[in-house]
Amino acid sequence: MEYIDLKKQYEVLKEKIDNNIQKVLNDSNYIMGEEVKILEEKLAKYVGRKYCATCGNGTDALTIAMKVFEIKENDAVFVPSFTFYSTSEVVSLEGATPIFIDVDERTFNIDTHKLEKAIKKVIDEGKLNPKAIIPVDLFGQPANFPEILEIANKYNLKVIEDGAQGFGGSINGKKACSFGEISTTSFFPAKPLGCYGDGGAIFTDDEEMYKKILSIRIHGKGSYKYENIRVGLNSRLDTIQAAILLPKLEAFEKYELEERNKFAKIYSEKLKDVVKVPVILEGYISSYAQYTIILNNEEERNDLQAKLKEVGIPTMIYYPIPLHKQIVYNGYDFNLEELKVSENLCKCVLSLPMHPYMSEEQIETISNEIIKALKKY
Ligand SMILES: *Cc1c(COP(=O)(O)O)cnc(C)c1O
Repeated sequence: MEYIDLKKQYEVLKEKIDNNIQKVLNDSNYIMGEEVKILEEKLAKYVGRKYCATCGNGTDALTIAMKVFEIKENDAVFVPSFTFYSTSEVVSLEGATPIFIDVDERTFNIDTHKLEKAIKKVIDEGKLNPKAIIPVDLFGQPANFPEILEIANKYNLKVIEDGAQGFGGSINGKKACSFGEISTTSFFPAKPLGCYGDGGAIFTDDEEMYKKILSIRIHGKGSYKYENIRVGLNSRLDTIQAAILLPKLEAFEKYELEERNKFAKIYSEKLKDVVKVPVILEGYISSYAQYTIILNNEEERNDLQAKLKEVGIPTMIYYPIPLHKQIVYNGYDFNLEELKVSENLCKCVLSLPMHPYMSEEQIETISNEIIKALKKY
């Protein structure tokens, strides 16, 4: 059994993907070929935004957003502690200070109450300029944007949505990657919509911001590539990756997102009495980048993972270390007593196989093995 079965997906989409790759080879427009432009238009339309610029990966997408807002030393940027490292890494890379915020144990997403408390604390201390919030749509469920946007408005903060895992999710019909002034996503192969290498995208509705994004994406270009007006990146999506993403986006829209939700529902029905299953808020849809359960403690979690491995069921621990405890942030001492939920989740979470090409039987097997393994407790 695969944790995420990319081969199965390729078998289903093979003809379209092969043809599209062959066309790029025939055209030999490897950089910014027409497929890139077509994909950007389709992505913007799907998400419901005016502009989309693809780029090299999801981390670059966030870095470009940092540079659009000119985030720099002495700026404070509020990020959840329970997420992938990129979310805070891009803040540190600009010399700014990430302020780690705990998450809500039910949704795995940034705790809005603790967020506001931390913003007030930074303002009171008067050492850093509160500048932006980077909410993450963790495991596919959009963050609590109705409340986050209200807080951002109140304290005049920018909102950059890290939708690397959120693509396809929504709140009351409004899609993930449409909530931040700038929103970003990743096409890393294992993400809900993945390519066959690295890739990413940036979304906005603001034309000036879009122009700035295009400039930063290609060496801070001015009116053309060899006129340079700012420090930027070299971060484009390869034409071949765009050609691969086109049929994948079609499948994602047509049935993959639905399949993910169907399988998540079966998991939850089977497992809800033995473990904590993911909670999706009223009106929210998750793209189930991960299906993550919560065990009672670390021993039970590790024991379950080992037992599942023995019977050939792969699982993953997302994430084993909260960002504020990463070695790179040694000496970090802001708000630490407020981060207990993130610390506890790192000990108790376990992510199960989840992709749109599973079978109901597989879900049943995995669930039954979990129930069997947990009998002891
Ligand atoms: C994967 C991921 C990223 C980074 O995306 P890459 O394409 O791997 O650079 C950023 N944030 C989160 C939450 C992610 O899961």
